[in-house]
Amino acid sequence: MSNINRRKFLKFSAGGLVGVTLGGVSLRVAAEERLSEDDVTAKALKYVHKTPVEGAVCANCMQIKGADGEAWRGCNIFPGKLVNANGWCAAWMKKPA
Ligand code: SF4
Repeated sequence: MSNINRRKFLKFSAGGLVGVTLGGVSLRVAAEERLSEDDVTAKALKYVHKTPVEGAVCANCMQIKGADGEAWRGCNIFPGKLVNANGWCAAWMKKPA
């Protein structure tokens, strides 16, 4: 590979990396959107940010993802959205101890 071709190749690769990185950022932003109580699926499952059921919250549901202690976490039922740790929906099932 000549020096010129190598330079062109490196320029192209750098551009590709930027594209991939920006794509990753937009996916990450989409994945961190908080679930709205007005979301169609949320309404169907009666999701609310504050549980009406004593002892049953998103934080102790088997569908919750992410680390304990975070206020907004991922949920297997609502892909790409974050649910409130103190929330609840009709799909709640106790997380095994
Ligand atoms: S399934 Fe429902 S109760 Fe369980 S974490 Fe997801 S939103 Fe919360």
